[in-house]
Amino acid sequence: MREFRRILRRGAFDLAAACWSGPCPVCLSPLPGRALRGICPACWCGLTRAETTDGETPRAAFTYRGGIVKIHRRLKFSAEKYLASPLARRMALVWKASGGFHPDLIVPVPADPLRLSYRRAVPGWLADSLARHLECVAKRNALRKIRPTRTQTKRSARERRTALVGLFRAKPRVVAGKNVLIVDDITTTGATLREAARAVQEAGALHVDTFALAHTPPA
Ligand SMILES: [Zn+2]
Repeated sequence: MREFRRILRRGAFDLAAACWSGPCPVCLSPLPGRALRGICPACWCGLTRAETTDGETPRAAFTYRGGIVKIHRRLKFSAEKYLASPLARRMALVWKASGGFHPDLIVPVPADPLRLSYRRAVPGWLADSLARHLECVAKRNALRKIRPTRTQTKRSARERRTALVGLFRAKPRVVAGKNVLIVDDITTTGATLREAARAVQEAGALHVDTFALAHTPPA
């Protein structure tokens, strides 16, 4: 019954997303019908791809500036979940083009449980959509945060690393022997993703890599 309700909810959401014809969240121009599920082609083309080092898998799909900031804010603060799917589709294209491994599991970075629920939902939405585009499964409960943390944005890189040590626990029965891709929405120093990856590796995962929607450029 719970699975049936979940399928019904997803069906209703997909229908709403397909019918969406509101303005582009970046430039606010009206969109014709179902164009690109709510983001105009010009704004898609204007997003800044994250830079990658040759031979390495990307740490993020975009650089966190310009249009992606507006889209991310709509997703996070207005809970406009329909935006997760087209963003995840772009993430999947970048990941595949990079030659990254094919994941068995996509695991979102768990947010602080003290945050408002819709503000901590974004990594989970991206993980669910990315799993569909990469034809694998998302496991939101594979990783948990074992203590609350205050915001990281005003901390130095060293303070962040210290605050994050031992912050996550992964479930061995879920991740052991699997290729696991850990997903977050925004990464700055990468410290949170590295600590999450360490926890998943310690729980017996075969291979672990990390990927984010966007990387904050150096100030
Ligand atoms: Zn636009």
